[in-house]
Amino acid sequence: MRPFTYQRAAGVAAAVAAAQANAAYLAGGTTLLDLMKLDAMRPETLIDINDLAAHHAGITVDQTGLRLGALTRMSAAAWHDVINRDYPMIAQSLLLAASAQLRNMATLGGNVLQRTRCNYFRDPGWGACNKRDPGSGCAALNGVNRKHAVLGTSDQCIAAYPGDFAQALIALDAKVDVAGPNGTRTLPFAELHRAPGDTPHIETTLARGELITGFTVPAGPWTRRSVYVKVRDRASFEFALASAAVAVELDGENVRQVRIALGGVATTPWRAHEAEAALVGKPLTEANAQHAARVAFRDAVARSQNAFKIELGQRTLVRGLQQAAALKV
Ligand code: SF4
Repeated sequence: MRPFTYQRAAGVAAAVAAAQANAAYLAGGTTLLDLMKLDAMRPETLIDINDLAAHHAGITVDQTGLRLGALTRMSAAAWHDVINRDYPMIAQSLLLAASAQLRNMATLGGNVLQRTRCNYFRDPGWGACNKRDPGSGCAALNGVNRKHAVLGTSDQCIAAYPGDFAQALIALDAKVDVAGPNGTRTLPFAELHRAPGDTPHIETTLARGELITGFTVPAGPWTRRSVYVKVRDRASFEFALASAAVAVELDGENVRQVRIALGGVATTPWRAHEAEAALVGKPLTEANAQHAARVAFRDAVARSQNAFKIELGQRTLVRGLQQAAALKV
């Protein structure tokens, strides 16, 4: 690991003030320190923000929704009784991620900012990676791309977004609170991540020095009937090949509203609005679920090794819709 300067911030204002060029915030460190050891990330200054937990690690729930502090540990939210009852999709997305040890350490704010698992990005021995070294090319386009994205890709980067919790947040129309050098702001979670386009090294809309302080998930009649389904190469401690976050409000047999997000298959947390529209007003039959799944992947682009993700992603979504429909709420 390269040498770096370590600072510990007592509050948000101190953290933001300390954020210079090539600085990084350190919370759980479960992604950042890995990537620093691999030499894939090279911050010169780490600003430890764990003391912010005194004011930004709370979980509150009321009739308007759920509020999660950014310094909340994954395990604290995953095992929270009310989240399990009223927002099961969120609890499941957290419990199906990483390992127990990592969930005890990793924070929610860091979780949504975790970086891709593309091996070319993580190994600086490979010269061509536009995300790590802009303009250098993309080794995955004609290389090992079995785990890469089929939605939201560009000819500059096809890396899959690796997170699970983010799929629940985008499905449930969450908002993100941010503090930075110009004050605070709140943005829709759907506007936090950027598709790779021509600038895959710019992954979010956060400005330099901006820090996520919390998330708000609005209440809705669909949150209890919600599930997170994750398919992966092994049963635990593995990233998604395909996942589906599904929340449904039924009107008798028919879908009144449905929220769908897809993981493991896209370059960013991926909301499937057209698939949702295909289901509204219809019964959640297997045929209707399969049609919605085909709609969700209509624009998918497969590479040499990842075409299987299109069918796998469709089947994962159908399973998620069926599981949500079967819930007794
Ligand atoms: Fe780099 Fe993206 Fe290509 Fe992977 S897919 S090598 S992260 S540019």
